[in-house]
Amino acid sequence: MNTTSRRGFLKTVGAFAAAPPAASAGATADSKEKKVQQRASFIPTSEIKKLSENLYWLEDTCNVYVVRDGSHAILIDFGSGKILDYLPQLGISQVDWILHTHHHRDQCQGDYKAVGRSIPVAVPAHERHLFADAENFWRNRRVFHLYYVRNDFNTITEDIPVASLLRDYGTFRWNTHDLFVLPTPRHTLGSVSLLMEVDGKKTAFTGDLMHSPGKLVNLWDTQVNYGGAEGIDLGAFSLARLREQKPSLLCPSHGDPLPDPESGIQQTIDRLVDYYRFQTGNAPSVLSRGYAVSPHFIAHHLTTSSFYAILSNSGKAMFIDYGSASGLHFGSFERATATTDRIRFVEHNIEDLKSRFGMKSIEVAMPSHMHDDHLNGFPHLTRHYQTQIWCYENMVDIFENPRGHNLGCTLGEPFKVSRAFRHGERFKWEEYDFEITHSPGHTEYQMALFVTIDGARVAFTGDAFFPYPDSAQTVLRHSLIFRNHVESDSHIKSIRNLIDHEPNLMAPGHGRPFLANREDLLATEQKMRRQTDLFHEIIADPDVNFGLDPSWCSLYPYQMLIKPGDSSRVEIRVQNYRKAPMKMEVFLVAPGEWHIEPEVLRFEAAAGNKVRQAFSVHIPRDWRPSSPRFAVAADVSCNGKYLGQITEAVVDIGS
Ligand SMILES: [Zn+2]
Ligand SMILES: [Zn+2]
Ligand SMILES: [Zn+2]
Repeated sequence: MNTTSRRGFLKTVGAFAAAPPAASAGATADSKEKKVQQRASFIPTSEIKKLSENLYWLEDTCNVYVVRDGSHAILIDFGSGKILDYLPQLGISQVDWILHTHHHRDQCQGDYKAVGRSIPVAVPAHERHLFADAENFWRNRRVFHLYYVRNDFNTITEDIPVASLLRDYGTFRWNTHDLFVLPTPRHTLGSVSLLMEVDGKKTAFTGDLMHSPGKLVNLWDTQVNYGGAEGIDLGAFSLARLREQKPSLLCPSHGDPLPDPESGIQQTIDRLVDYYRFQTGNAPSVLSRGYAVSPHFIAHHLTTSSFYAILSNSGKAMFIDYGSASGLHFGSFERATATTDRIRFVEHNIEDLKSRFGMKSIEVAMPSHMHDDHLNGFPHLTRHYQTQIWCYENMVDIFENPRGHNLGCTLGEPFKVSRAFRHGERFKWEEYDFEITHSPGHTEYQMALFVTIDGARVAFTGDAFFPYPDSAQTVLRHSLIFRNHVESDSHIKSIRNLIDHEPNLMAPGHGRPFLANREDLLATEQKMRRQTDLFHEIIADPDVNFGLDPSWCSLYPYQMLIKPGDSSRVEIRVQNYRKAPMKMEVFLVAPGEWHIEPEVLRFEAAAGNKVRQAFSVHIPRDWRPSSPRFAVAADVSCNGKYLGQITEAVVDIGS
């Protein structure tokens, strides 16, 4: 660390930042010293083969495909790079792009040759860090105590500069050609297939999604967690989506190109479904479908969180929540998500809602609460279905400024909210009348939504309360996640609210809708009162919310992004849970070269109030960061008592 201490505080922060960072946004090969690797001199013995006028392939460490346009070409995957020697004989003088289907070494181990020739490389967006930041991956990948057995060990050993990202459902434009990026996780969690028209054929470059009809290249790459069969489940789902694209030629990374692949794809799906049932005893995600609770109310309970479609007679739909295709999709992608990325999302159930239930459009989507497993499809809906997002008012800033908060379970991609509602507000959508209320407990940022559908009074309750699977239990099950913000009376407020609204049917955030019973709700209220008593018994501070809310004193935004030469505003936010004012003094502990104004913030938080005061942080233009991410801490004194560095934030250094 080249930083010097402001009043000696910095040692702590410096030590934190110098530890191997989990994140390393912005670190590229360019900013590091050039290393020289030892290289093998092996070369593939195969010869280049022609598939059609402008499509060739070479069996290298993986199949490398050449798509030619005049004297220009793109390459799908690169193997050892031997392909470069064949290009002159094909009349190709320039490679415009190398596009990778996934990050394994056999696909990209020759990329250093491409870098040497200034050929730009594009990679799947969700595997960017396994190319551009591979060395950081290796610093952090645990080998002892290995239960996360995913084969990310097949990652390249040196950073590869990434010029562009292949974004799921996006189009990669090359000259006059469009390549559609279809997310096809299986062989790796970030794998993509690329679809384009070549010589009149819809061609799918599918990486190692399948080898040949019914066959995979190996099984070890299908396992993510100890004993799991994740890649089998994901693969059957991805192959079903690929089949819907109706490719007429399938070009795998290992195995021969396959013309008219429909039956070969189906054969592979069937075999994976069989294998998955054998290994797990469960039905795979590809078989999960929604069902009609009543004609206008469609429920999906095998998706990661339950999601619901309310259908109007016009064919328009309102979605309540829309998370991942299955719990397995969510769980697998969640652990694989890079520090600065958002969780991967693959579309599900929309075609089924159209074909089976006559849905014409998704006009509105509402989140039951702010958790990513309930809404990670929302940005996709806004981008591809022009869906508007409506929500309870306290969620708006979490969605629009997700870097602001450290609340747990937040989606790392902002999206716009078109309409926000207050507690108790009523509104109309199509032929339906709604009432929305605040429903804290599981998280402060949760609603209950009441509406009559096909004669039943339905309450959409998110993750507030669930029935126990054991039917002898009459009280409902609740949950408690302190990072999500819970206060001592939160659950009582939300159960009281449900009792008062007398729903017939509760539609929870996980599982199937169930019949509401007033006795059970009243029993649950009693249980929640006991919870409040327990909080008081166990927490030392008589104002117990100080022992429940880790963010009573917090920095906003929690994840700042500042470039050297720029300034940023950071707020200290204090929620005073006491019945007396709190006199606060706050000092920001940060690298010594930064300019922070004022040096000390002094302010008063009135009893029961939330207050915010701002620092201005300036990073000098000539400052050379030793790491792409730093932690800063707030050193706090309250009513003359020195509490210490009780809260923190992180700063990503932009470039
Ligand atoms: Zn591979
Ligand atoms: Zn939740
Ligand atoms: Zn949930």
